[in-house]
Amino acid sequence: MSLSRLVSGVFALSVCLVSSYALAAPIHIVAAENFYADVAKQVGGDHVEVSSIISNPDVNPHLFEVSPKVARSISDAKIAIYSGIGYDDWMAKLLAGHDKLVKIDVASMTGHEDGDNPHIWYDPHTMLLLSLAIKQELSQLDPAHKAAYQHNWQAFVKSMHPIWKRIDTLRQKYAGTEVTATEPVFGYMFAELGFKVRNLGFQMAVMNDTDPSASQIKALHNDLTEHKVAFLLYNNQVTDPMTDQLKALAEKHKVAIVGATETMPKGTHYQNWINQELTGVQNVLEK
Ligand SMILES: [Zn+2]
Repeated sequence: MSLSRLVSGVFALSVCLVSSYALAAPIHIVAAENFYADVAKQVGGDHVEVSSIISNPDVNPHLFEVSPKVARSISDAKIAIYSGIGYDDWMAKLLAGHDKLVKIDVASMTGHEDGDNPHIWYDPHTMLLLSLAIKQELSQLDPAHKAAYQHNWQAFVKSMHPIWKRIDTLRQKYAGTEVTATEPVFGYMFAELGFKVRNLGFQMAVMNDTDPSASQIKALHNDLTEHKVAFLLYNNQVTDPMTDQLKALAEKHKVAIVGATETMPKGTHYQNWINQELTGVQNVLEK
């Protein structure tokens, strides 16, 4: 073999290696919140690399502000996922100049409108619809791995079955239970369970970082001191002096407290997280 043929052969081989490497490079998906990133990773498997912007369980997502580092994190993404209806307007703004990105606005996709409770990921239907959308987008962007996305998606849907079963069981036993909360994070799950949620106005004020009215505060205090509710759902991630005070009042009057977080704790998956929170509800009701 002549030197030139050897060189061109090696060159062809390296080109081939480079292009197959390029094909195999994972697709970058960026999600505004970690629970959406988790579902995207479960559907995309080894063929995607996901990152999430809000994942710190000690941060109140309602008060999140964008840093330059966050802006950079979306630059090489192919798919961006955000919640919508005002929850993460900063993400829609960040994505404005990125026209080649596939943008998934989860709230619009699932038929929600401005003014609805923004914590839509607490409705498991939302995650099923999102997983389907992710599967479809990935299959279009990367048809070579269509079968893998289909397989992963089916596994995700199957892994949600215990959650549906759990909701069904709790609903049959406890529908109509009256509960209250410091913040409306658990609203969609309460609706699934058929629970009656009191003091919504107060909860919205905490969510919006505004002051609840005197009558809203009084009504919630009465619900606790007069034991009108089965438990107080306490959002551990969206707190202020008022919510701390309510927690203390519930403890003083021996009203059960169920903790919940706004975003997914570290080192878990959406299904485990929701299951764990349902366990918290169940434990209190079975006492
Ligand atoms: Zn919230």
